[in-house]
Amino acid sequence: MIPVSEPFINEADIKAVVTAMRGGWLSGDGPIVEEFEHDFADKVGVQHAIAVSNGSAALDAAFASIDLQPGDEVIMPAFTIISCAQQVVRMGAIPVLIDSNDDDWNMCTERVSDAVTSRTRAVLAVHTYGLAVDMGSLFDAVSGSKIRVIEDAAEAHGLQYRGRPCGSMGDIGTFSFYSNKTMTTGEGGMAVTDSVSLATKLRKLRNLAFQSERRFVHEELGWNLRMSSMQAALGRSQLARLDDLVARKREIGALYRDRLVGIPDVQIAPSVSRGALNSYWIVGLVLGESHPVAEIVRSRLASQGVGSRPFFCPMHLQPVFRKMGLFTEDRHPVSERLWSRGLYLPSGLSITADQIDQVCDSLERVLL
Ligand SMILES: *Cc1c(COP(=O)(O)O)cnc(C)c1O
Repeated sequence: MIPVSEPFINEADIKAVVTAMRGGWLSGDGPIVEEFEHDFADKVGVQHAIAVSNGSAALDAAFASIDLQPGDEVIMPAFTIISCAQQVVRMGAIPVLIDSNDDDWNMCTERVSDAVTSRTRAVLAVHTYGLAVDMGSLFDAVSGSKIRVIEDAAEAHGLQYRGRPCGSMGDIGTFSFYSNKTMTTGEGGMAVTDSVSLATKLRKLRNLAFQSERRFVHEELGWNLRMSSMQAALGRSQLARLDDLVARKREIGALYRDRLVGIPDVQIAPSVSRGALNSYWIVGLVLGESHPVAEIVRSRLASQGVGSRPFFCPMHLQPVFRKMGLFTEDRHPVSERLWSRGLYLPSGLSITADQIDQVCDSLERVLL
């Protein structure tokens, strides 16, 4: 079986984790987490980075830090992971969903200005599958307002939009280091910001809202979202070669492109879109009407020994939200099509050129 993603760990990574352990640094306190935050902030070109336990936690903390109130609206893509919407809903705020572009599958930013109301508090841009959201057009839509911009860059490590690192352009940027992301700490995440006050809030929320003056006396509720020193040690080691990891992702993307462009009625992501090069976090494809739906093609691929994953199930189709009475009137035809017709192929950093050929041979066999 060719797995959809395999971790890519080298000796330097292993040594970094062992060194942390031998030094007695295990918990979320101490110099290793601070060094990782410092290095990560440098790499993204921001003032503050706050390491957390995962990418979903980074989003939870980001929405908590801007103090959403019940009834506030947050504009976000329909086509995304539930991590983007869950804390917004838990706070009693309302996700306002926007459909995807046909070509790059990211949120259609031209529609953001029509979605803005007097209740809009934030817009969440999610750089999806390694392609950047059109941030220029998004900022045009909210310019002159107090609307916060949050970027979910969990799928966009090392990606630049018109020379600016993804995650650095909004008020807060969030990252995941889950094991299938371009760089990993196993589980882990990061929130980044240039704002001192947001950084202070995020740090406080991460650590049970402990106060420095009187420990164990709390004025607010937080969470324990701390990242361990062992994870941070792995993160520092991975970050040191992030450029190589992204370059490898692009090689994998190019090898797939060469083969996939020849398959009729299959859409692949563009290699450049809206001022950014594709960083190919994953290699996805959308099957045209002449092919069966993704679920069928995925099971045929599995029977040929090829792993794959479905695309996101859009937020307005999530049973959990429908049961809450949310999104019952929403229709997002592009997101719906991506869900029924999209899948991604094995694109982990360890995949070989031979395996890519095998995957494409299998795909041709099951489609033609
Ligand atoms: C992976 C991912 C997350 C969640 O990160 P976890 O570390 O798995 O919690 C959030 N947003 C996007 C876009 C992701 O791809």
